[in-house]
Amino acid sequence: MRIGIDLGGSHIAIGVVQQNGTLIEKKEIDLDSENNLEEFIQTYILKGVKEYIEKYPVDLIGIASPGEPKDGKITSLVNLGIQELDITEIIGKICDIPVQILNDAKCAGKAEKEYGALRNEEDGVFICLGTGMGGAVFMEDKLLTPKRHSGFELGHITIQKDGELCKCGNHGCLETYCSIKRFKKALIEILDLPKETKAQELLEVLKEREKEEKVEQKINEYIENLVIGLSNITNIFEPEAICLGGSFVYFENILYDKLVEKFEKGEQFFNKDSLPKLKLAMLGNDAGMIGATIK
Ligand SMILES: [Zn+2]
Repeated sequence: MRIGIDLGGSHIAIGVVQQNGTLIEKKEIDLDSENNLEEFIQTYILKGVKEYIEKYPVDLIGIASPGEPKDGKITSLVNLGIQELDITEIIGKICDIPVQILNDAKCAGKAEKEYGALRNEEDGVFICLGTGMGGAVFMEDKLLTPKRHSGFELGHITIQKDGELCKCGNHGCLETYCSIKRFKKALIEILDLPKETKAQELLEVLKEREKEEKVEQKINEYIENLVIGLSNITNIFEPEAICLGGSFVYFENILYDKLVEKFEKGEQFFNKDSLPKLKLAMLGNDAGMIGATIK
């Protein structure tokens, strides 16, 4: 048995995963602006780990973390205001089970590759579209891992010269046009809804108002930009399939068919005959937690 922990920008999930990827049980909590988030996270994780190691024979603890975790430490969790957290040492105080940490998009990608939408593709790209945009690339069934940084920052491909400012400091990154956070924000403004409207509520409103001109314009613009990104990715990696995950999946009904239609025209492909399949992630929100436990 393994413990998987997913540290999101807005929630933490911790669960027990079998060697075959089956999630046995999990608990999760949304993070508000707690006074001391770092302390809260530590307490929550330690409590969960303690409970599960008493209940199950655990031989590995895997953590999916945003950013670029290194040497067993979580670093630069910008959204949570944490500079560095030596989670391996913290967990080491209560047990001597090995801990592995990997970027969350890579973990979700590994889970989709092993058990989900990419399991039958040797060459596949996973793209996580959510608060930001991350990616993982597999060639001949292996996750590509550069030596210097984690790489495959697919959200930071420039798609527009002098475009919008990205949180990475550059301009015109794919993420600034295609993260679901930005897409949601734009729709909320167009529809004149309260800022804090959740995805589910937004989708309910869209059922009635999807055909409004400004909404359609936004959806088309989003798809055009995403197709530029996906075409660049295709030209570089020539994947057999691209899997789209993260909160993109919630917007499947309004985005997926239009995206496939535009993408399959292959207007920006170098090899016109090498259309990758566009797939939706299958493991939902648990992908990061499950992927974190894969060795
Ligand atoms: Zn960027």
